[in-house]
Amino acid sequence: MSLTKRFAAGFSFTSLCCACLTLAAFAVDCSAQQAVKTETKAGQQGEAEKIKVLIVDGQNNHAHWPKTTIMMKQYLEESGKFTVDVARTATIWKGKLAQEFPLGDGKEYKNLPKPKADPNFKPDFASYDVVLSNFGYNAAPWPEETKANFEKYMAEGGGLVVVHAADNSWGDWKEFNLMIGLGGWGGRNESSGPYVYLNDDGEEIRDKSKGNGGSHGPQHLFQVVARNTEHPIMKGLPTSWLHAQDELYDKLRGPAENMTILATSYSDPKYKGTGRHEPMIMVLDYKKGRIFHTPMGHADYSMECVGYRTVLLRGTEWAATGQVTLTEVPENFPTDKAESKTAFELKTKAAK
Ligand SMILES: [Zn+2]
Repeated sequence: MSLTKRFAAGFSFTSLCCACLTLAAFAVDCSAQQAVKTETKAGQQGEAEKIKVLIVDGQNNHAHWPKTTIMMKQYLEESGKFTVDVARTATIWKGKLAQEFPLGDGKEYKNLPKPKADPNFKPDFASYDVVLSNFGYNAAPWPEETKANFEKYMAEGGGLVVVHAADNSWGDWKEFNLMIGLGGWGGRNESSGPYVYLNDDGEEIRDKSKGNGGSHGPQHLFQVVARNTEHPIMKGLPTSWLHAQDELYDKLRGPAENMTILATSYSDPKYKGTGRHEPMIMVLDYKKGRIFHTPMGHADYSMECVGYRTVLLRGTEWAATGQVTLTEVPENFPTDKAESKTAFELKTKAAK
C-alpha cells in the first residue's frame, strides 16, 4: 500500500484546506500513525475515513466459511469503523452455504468437489488498508502474479488478519509463512520452523524437534490468558477470559520471526492437548506490514463469542493502522469463568 493510501484512510479529506495542501510534502513525511490520530471517535467517521477491509475467501475445509465471512463482515461494519469488501475465487470449495449467505455481487461462483485454482483471482490489495484471510486448509494456490502483488502490498506497509484455518493454507509459500509466523497442516514440519509455545513459567519455547505442524483435540471452551496487557489490542481486557466452544490449535510451527505472543491458551491433555500454553493471539511485522493472527474461530458458534469479536475488531484495526481506537470493552465480555455469546443475526440479506 502506498503511504498516500494509508494516509488517506485515516484522514478526513473534508478537513483539508488550501493551507493544508501546501503542507502536503510535510504531511507525506509524517508517519501515517500521526495522521490516524486526527480521526474522530469510533462510529463517527464518514465512509471515506473508514478503514477499508478486504476479506479474501473461497476455499476452506471449514464448510461454515461463507457464513463466517458474512459474520466477520457484519461485525466489522457494525462497529462503524470499517467498510468491508469480499474477494472470492470463482472456483469455490465446500461453499454450499454461499447460497444462504450470498455476497450479492452478481458474480457466478462454481462450487467444486475439490479445490481448484482461479487464474483470474487478482484482488486490488493496494486499495485496502487490511486484508483478512478466510481461506483454509487445502486452498488452491493463488496465481503467481497475485502472490507477488500481495507480497509487495505487505512489504510496503499493508495489513493482514489471519483467523483459524487461514493459517493452514499454503505451507509451501515462503513469504506467506513469514507473514503468519506459525501455521499448521499443509505439509508443515520441522523444515517450516520451530514449534512455539510458552511453558508453565511463561517462557517462550522454540522447539526444533521433528514432527508435523498443527493438531487439535475435541472442541471445548477454553481460557484465553493475556501475556501482554500493554499492547493496544489487549489493553483494558480481562487478563483471562473463557472463550466459547472452539478448536484449540496446538503444535503450530513456522518461522515465527518478528512475532509477539499476546495471549495463550492451555492445551489440556484432558482434551488430547499438548500440556503447553499455545499461542492464541499474535502480532507480527513483515517488512513494513503488520499482521494480526488468531487460531480461534473454527465455526460460526466460535465467532459468536464476544471476546473473539472484540479481539477481531481490535486486531483488524491494529493491522490496518498500528493503533486501536476501539478501546471500549463490551459489558457482556466473557469473564474468567463464564463464556459470553450473542447469536448472530443477519442484518441485511444481500440481493441474489
Ligand atoms: Zn477448525
